[in-house]
Amino acid sequence: MMLRSRPALLRRLYLKGAGRKYHVLAIETSCDDTTVALIDRPPAPQPPVLLDHYKRSLDNTAAGGIIPIDARNFHQRNLALMVQEVLQRNGMSHGLTPQDVVAVTRGPGMMGSLGAGFNLAKGLSVAWGCGFVGVHHMVGHLLTPRLFADESGRTPEYPFVSLLVSGGHTMLVLSTSVTEHKVLTNTIDIAIGDMLDKCARELGMRGSMLGMELERFINEQQQLQQQQIKAGIEPQPHNVPDEFVMPTPLRGKGARKATTAYSFAAFISALQIERRKHFPDISTLADLPAPTRLELAKRVQTGIFNHLAKQTALALEAADLPSDKLDFVCAGGVASNQHLRTVLAEKLESKGFSGMRRFYPAPKWCTDNAAMIGWAGIELWEAGLQTDLAAMPTSRWSVEDMLSLGGWLKRE
Ligand code: AMP
Ligand code: ZN
Repeated sequence: MMLRSRPALLRRLYLKGAGRKYHVLAIETSCDDTTVALIDRPPAPQPPVLLDHYKRSLDNTAAGGIIPIDARNFHQRNLALMVQEVLQRNGMSHGLTPQDVVAVTRGPGMMGSLGAGFNLAKGLSVAWGCGFVGVHHMVGHLLTPRLFADESGRTPEYPFVSLLVSGGHTMLVLSTSVTEHKVLTNTIDIAIGDMLDKCARELGMRGSMLGMELERFINEQQQLQQQQIKAGIEPQPHNVPDEFVMPTPLRGKGARKATTAYSFAAFISALQIERRKHFPDISTLADLPAPTRLELAKRVQTGIFNHLAKQTALALEAADLPSDKLDFVCAGGVASNQHLRTVLAEKLESKGFSGMRRFYPAPKWCTDNAAMIGWAGIELWEAGLQTDLAAMPTSRWSVEDMLSLGGWLKRE
């Protein structure tokens, strides 16, 4: 689909980012968050402006996890109204200010959820006669720090390495352009966020972002202990024996020793086995007193992050990259964890990767959001790409083969 209504010169200027400001509406519905964003893209080198972002999250607490049909229905109930509200509150209602590009997550994700966003995005692009870009969800996460400059006004430049740590992924990726991403290492079982959630549930956390709840619990309990110490009160001791140890996956004897892969499955089994061994009288760790749960929470979180940091350093060594010239991005929901940032910084410094500039998107932009989809859509659009209106969403999509999936159209 070409922008036939626009003169060719204007289209060329758009490609170079040197034309007039253009408007982007972005939608992300790959899982259970419904998110909508509006971004203004002024001519480069002016920075993009995030005009609005609207997120509604399905509360999965009662269900104890994500039920795909509930997530799909949640998007279908909310998305159109959210788009309407975002347009209205930015003075763009009634189609008076058509957007120039609609960017939407095409995959990977849950089919029902993706379909809800993808179909509305197609409809809007037909109605506005504008560009349509189907974005890879992970590329959205990877490029997020290029939308939001850090405190020093810096953004990562290609090529850069990203550690993507989310509820569904744990991978280290080398990005050389918006369309070229090489996976340096990956998890061989479950994702880090998934494991943090499982362990947090075992430790009695409740809510929909259990990894975040775990961090919050640790911080609150530590603060409480500090306050007690300040007030001259001796904090209640924990009774976790030293033998209650967390595993060090893939670092044992044998052939797997040299692997750079991540593996998190052992943490939940270790927690359950050690519970039965050391606390045989209780059926759940949630029953333990807070100081003991705090100690266990710290050991779990640190054990998981140490493994992540160790394997990341090994993978960087194995990739043999000019690390002093490479930027390092840590993105995805788990990247908002402050302790993870400390553990990673220590490991990278100690392994000779101190020359890499490190970028962490603000916590709000680490979890799923439409702003990242809008920005990735802008980079794809400016690389001359858009998506066929006949394209379908996809539950599986390798970030390495982003362009192999049918449905891409090259703009002139
Ligand atoms: P995403 O898949 O990118 O939306 O990220 C969601 C995952 O990130 C879930 O597993 C959350 O528990 C996890 N998460 C979010 N915030 C934090 C945090 N502060 N610490 C650890 N994990 C977190
Ligand atoms: Zn995500």
